[in-house]
Amino acid sequence: MSETLEKLKKYLEEKSQYDHVTTLLYWDMETGTPKEGLAGHVDAMTYFSTKAFEMGTSKELGEMLETLSKPEEFGQLDDTMKFIVTRMKRDMDKEKRIPAERYEAYVRAQAEAGNAWREAKNASDYSIFVPHLKNMITMTAELAGYTDPGKEVYDVLLDNYEEGMDSATVDRLFDELKKELFPLVKQILAAKQPENGKFQGNFDVNAQKEVQWMLLDYIGFSREKGTVGETEHPFTLNFCSKDVRVSNHYYEKEPLSAMFSAIHEGGHGIFEQNVNPDYDNTVAGSCYYMGVHESQSRFYENILGRNKNFWLPIYEKLGQLLPQFQEISLDEFYREINHVKNSLIRTEADEVTYCFHIILRYEIEKAIFREHVAVEDLPELWNEKMKEYLGIVPANDAEGILQDMHWSDGSFGYFPSYLLGSIYDGMYLDTIEKELGSVDELLAAGKISEITKWLNEKIHWYGNTRTPKEVMEKVCGTEVSAEPLIRYFKKKYTEIYEL
Ligand SMILES: [Zn+2]
Repeated sequence: MSETLEKLKKYLEEKSQYDHVTTLLYWDMETGTPKEGLAGHVDAMTYFSTKAFEMGTSKELGEMLETLSKPEEFGQLDDTMKFIVTRMKRDMDKEKRIPAERYEAYVRAQAEAGNAWREAKNASDYSIFVPHLKNMITMTAELAGYTDPGKEVYDVLLDNYEEGMDSATVDRLFDELKKELFPLVKQILAAKQPENGKFQGNFDVNAQKEVQWMLLDYIGFSREKGTVGETEHPFTLNFCSKDVRVSNHYYEKEPLSAMFSAIHEGGHGIFEQNVNPDYDNTVAGSCYYMGVHESQSRFYENILGRNKNFWLPIYEKLGQLLPQFQEISLDEFYREINHVKNSLIRTEADEVTYCFHIILRYEIEKAIFREHVAVEDLPELWNEKMKEYLGIVPANDAEGILQDMHWSDGSFGYFPSYLLGSIYDGMYLDTIEKELGSVDELLAAGKISEITKWLNEKIHWYGNTRTPKEVMEKVCGTEVSAEPLIRYFKKKYTEIYEL
C-alpha cells in the first residue's frame, strides 16, 4: 500500500470518529434528550461536527486526494478506493469553489429561515416567511452558481439530490404520470368509498409497538444491526451497516400510522443494513441518492405493505396483538389501507394522490428558478394547482404552502426524488416478477424474504457506489420510465374501486 493511501485511511478513520459522535448526539436529540439537556447536546454537536467538517475540507486531505488521483497512484487502488478518492475529490473541488464567507452566510440564513417558517406555519401567516424564502432562493441559486458554474440552476439542484437527474427527464416522467393519473384519480374519487368506522377508537400504544416489531421482523429488518426510537416525524439514521436506527411515532387513535411508518422506515433501514460492510464509514457506504433511497422505503410501504397478500401470513397475529383488528376482516383492512382521498397534506396522502402533491411542488420550484415568479404570488399558484389536481383548496397557508419545511433549509429539488422513488418501484416490480415470479404469490406464501434478498443483492449491497441511472440499467436493464408505475396503479385501483 502506498504511503499516501495508508495515511488517507488513517485520516478517514479519525474523521469517522467525529462523525460517529455527531450522529449519536443527533439521534439522542431527536429521540430522547430532556428539554433542558438540549443546549448541552447542541454545543457538543457543534464541536464534533465542526471538527468533522474541518477534516473533510482540509488542505491536508485535498493534497492526499490529489496525490492518489495521479495515474501512477490511482492505477494501484482497488475499485472501492478508486470510488472513494474520485468521489471525495469531486465533492471537495465543488465545495472549494464556494467562498467560506458565503457558505457561512448560507448556514446562518438556513437557521433563520427555519425559525421563521415555524413561526409562519404556527400563525398561518405566509408574510412572515416571505423575506426568508426570498433569501433562501437567492442564496441557493448563488451557491449552485459556484459549485456548477454555467449549468442551469434547477438542474444543479435536482442533481444534488438525485445524481444525473435533470428537468428534461423529470418533465417526461411527471407529464406522463399527470396525463394518465388525472382521469384515474377522478374516477376513484367519484367511486364508492369504504366505510372506516371500525378504525376509530383507542388502540393501545404498547400493543402498537409490538405490532411495529412484528412488522420489522417480518420484512427483514435486523435487530442485531438496528433498533427503534420514538420521535415526532419518523426518520432513519445510520452509523454504518452494523448500526441502523429507525424511529416511529404512535397515535392512540390512528393505529395505521405507526404500522406504515414502521414499514417505510424499515425499508430505509434494511437498505443501510445490507450495504457491503467494506464500505462502512466511507462515501461508498450510506446511499446519498434520495430517489433510490426512497424507492426502497416506498417499495416496502406501498408495493408490498399495501398489497393484501403481504398481510395474509400475519393478519391473525395482528389481531392477537391489537384485538380490535379481530373485528375487521382482511378485506376491510385492505380497503382502508388503500383508501384514496383528496387531502391537503402531502405526508398524509395515499399512494396515488401523493403523486400530485409532488408534481405540484416540482412545478412551483421550476416556476421559482426558471420563470422567477414573485415569492408573494406563490400561495396563489399553490392553491390554483391544488384545485386543478385534487379539486380542493386549503383554507389557510399552514395547510397549503407552509406545510413542509424543505424550502426553509434550501432543499429545492428534493421533492421530486420522492416520486422518482415510486417510479423506480414500478420498474423493480416488473423486474422482480420476471425474475422471481408473481409478487402476490410470493407474499401469500410467506416468502417475503425472497424479495428482500433480491433487493439486498441487486440494490442494497452497492450502497452509494451506483448512481440512480446505473441502478436502473444494472437492475432493470432499461432507462427510467413511468409506464410500469402507471400500469400498477391502474390495475390495482380498477380492482379495488371496481372502476
Ligand atoms: Zn422515506
